[in-house]
Amino acid sequence: MNNPRYTLDDLRFGIDGQTFEKAVGLYKAGKVAEFSEDGIGYSAMVIGTHPYKVYVHGSAYDRGMCTCYLGERDELCKHMIALALYAIARGRTLAPEEVASVEDVSCSGVLGELSKAELKATKAEITTAMRKIKSYAGPSRTWFAYQDSLSEGCRRLSPIVSRLPVSKQTATILIDLLIRIDSKLATGGVDDSDGTVGGFAFELVQVLVEFFKQDHRCVEAFERLVKADMGFGFEDDLIRILDEGFNEEG
Ligand SMILES: [Zn+2]
Repeated sequence: MNNPRYTLDDLRFGIDGQTFEKAVGLYKAGKVAEFSEDGIGYSAMVIGTHPYKVYVHGSAYDRGMCTCYLGERDELCKHMIALALYAIARGRTLAPEEVASVEDVSCSGVLGELSKAELKATKAEITTAMRKIKSYAGPSRTWFAYQDSLSEGCRRLSPIVSRLPVSKQTATILIDLLIRIDSKLATGGVDDSDGTVGGFAFELVQVLVEFFKQDHRCVEAFERLVKADMGFGFEDDLIRILDEGFNEEG
């Protein structure tokens, strides 16, 4: 048995939520039949509106084919994803959190700090996600794949941010993240022409505003923004909080 080179999370964060949910539905309903593998990839009959013959490569879930309408136009379809899911999970029951849809970023609303180990793990997860937010160098035909990578980076960051407890410690992590995103957009060669990454940065700022409302000491983490001299104005709401804080003291 050959396991694919991609993981469940690669699928969950790598493709749009609607296609992923439909693929999970097909998998759970047992619609992936006659599964077989040839050492390079996987084949199956996936029962959608009709039975479709599907093939997916073991090293990339978006390489393969399907006899459905989308597949015949070389587009990634839910049948290919359902088969990729099967190649990973082999029919076992998937836990709800493994296939939970990726929500918009929000504030956890719980006060607290991370332990040393949690802090380290969180920073590592952020670094992994940030690798997907990379500079664009390829020809125009790979532009869509590139945009998918930016979306994947933001989808991966969302749950990391949303589960953080609220404190000055975790506000510092988010401020660092905001500065990194800004510098990638400003000088890192990221082509965010559809606004995915910028939109995420704005949401991140709203989470930080919420952090401040729940614990005023978070404002100390915002001070770093003054030196960072960011270029996109994402941080304006936070600078305003900083200014007002200083005024109260003065
Ligand atoms: Zn298909």
